[in-house]
Amino acid sequence: MALKLFNTLSRSVEEFVPLDPAGRRVGMYCCGPTVHDSAHIGNFRTFVFTDMLRRYLEFRGFAVEHVMNITDVEDKIIARVRAANTTLREYTSKYETAFFEDLKSLGCKPPHQTPRATEFIAEIISLIEKLIERGLAYKATDGSVYFSIDKYCGCGCTYGQLLKLNFDEMRVGERVKSDEYAKESVADFALWKARVPDDGAVFWPSPWGEGRPGWHIECSAMSMKLLGPSFDLHLGGEDLIFPHHEDEIAQSEGAGLQPPGKRFVKHWMHGAHLLVEGKKMSKSLGNFYTLRDLTAKGFAGREIRYLLLTSHYRETFNFTTEGLQGAHTALARIDECIIKLRESEKGPKKNAQSGPDQKVRGAFSDALADDLNISAAWAVVFEWVRELNRKMSEQTLTADEAATALVTFSDLDSVLGLNLRTSDNMSTEELSALITFKELLEERQAARKAKDFKRSDAIRDELKAKGWVIEDTPKGARLKRL
Ligand code: AMP
Ligand code: ZN
Repeated sequence: MALKLFNTLSRSVEEFVPLDPAGRRVGMYCCGPTVHDSAHIGNFRTFVFTDMLRRYLEFRGFAVEHVMNITDVEDKIIARVRAANTTLREYTSKYETAFFEDLKSLGCKPPHQTPRATEFIAEIISLIEKLIERGLAYKATDGSVYFSIDKYCGCGCTYGQLLKLNFDEMRVGERVKSDEYAKESVADFALWKARVPDDGAVFWPSPWGEGRPGWHIECSAMSMKLLGPSFDLHLGGEDLIFPHHEDEIAQSEGAGLQPPGKRFVKHWMHGAHLLVEGKKMSKSLGNFYTLRDLTAKGFAGREIRYLLLTSHYRETFNFTTEGLQGAHTALARIDECIIKLRESEKGPKKNAQSGPDQKVRGAFSDALADDLNISAAWAVVFEWVRELNRKMSEQTLTADEAATALVTFSDLDSVLGLNLRTSDNMSTEELSALITFKELLEERQAARKAKDFKRSDAIRDELKAKGWVIEDTPKGARLKRL
């Protein structure tokens, strides 16, 4: 089934077709954390959603390049550095380290690249230079450089592509130096902020004098440097639609680096927010949770991940303690089924190797192909768990069927990321690899049958290079770890 995803740009569900003419490579950028404090579970809802999307794209055979930036310089961070009387790096590094530990305990795959804004100052400066050259940015009397919304619109471009803006009702033309500003104003925004005494030691030289970059330009510079001026997917939480992502489009397309007819980003996706007990999380309401607050209460990272994956990414999610308790129970049901399957698998088998159950795999994949319809995907999983449990209690599940079920769980878990213990001695990665290798093994058998020994030897060598040997037994060929 074709993959369909909602695109904020067109406000509709569209078929996802990557820019790569071969249809294989996918460039994906997700706005990462601002490391001014510990990330909260709302932030992690967005990161778990992006991780699941990446995993699902990989499950479908795409080669994903996942970039997630670290915003390590912006207004809030500078205020905290000043208050803590420390250096920028010292301040941000502890939150950055904690963030990556949290991502790991939530079962998120590390992104392939995690650029820090402070390491891309040269790219940021050259992007701003390009915008000045094209007449879209100007240096103001305060020494800062701003993006001109008027000039941009004057070139026939639309400001307000992700979010329909009502220019008549909005105050137009004012200037904002702050990284965050009220949605009621469509204002020229800062690309480069001139140094002020409060910045302390946080500044870099530039053609416009000492200063630091604005938040929006950081993401444009990093994403285009690492994924090219035109790439497939850009993600973030819904609060980033405006102004952050709107400004990213204006800057990146304003610089005119895209090939003719290509957009900066083909497909924009935004995750809805997480509320706690129906309210926006805030420290003053006492409903603000970091991941560590929850693990300290005895919940595992994988249970929190499971909970975050129970609702559709475009629906606001209401986090409750009962929900977390429910996640614990639901995941335990799956774990228990897997433990029983591992017992059932120990009996005599007819087949040496099992591939995944194509019916279950197909139904699970079709559910997610429909704009990541996770509820439908869970329905497939739990219906199947019920069926397996029934057969096991009736003792009608064969060892071969149990082995197939375990390989299937491992396959589905490559998307769910719940670290299901389908085997003692193989990691989930190894088991998923085995599924791919099993296809190679079948191809080799077909080649041998067709007396294409050159191909069958090439497959044997390929498997060997990946750590697997083929054992030819009277019952047929089987794979063994080298
Ligand atoms: P920040 O560290 O504030 O830059 O946010 C990191 C990511 O978390 C961004 O993609 C935000 O859109 C997202 N985010 C912030 N608050 C929430 C929330 N309550 N629920 C879901 N995502 C959020
Ligand atoms: Zn960003």
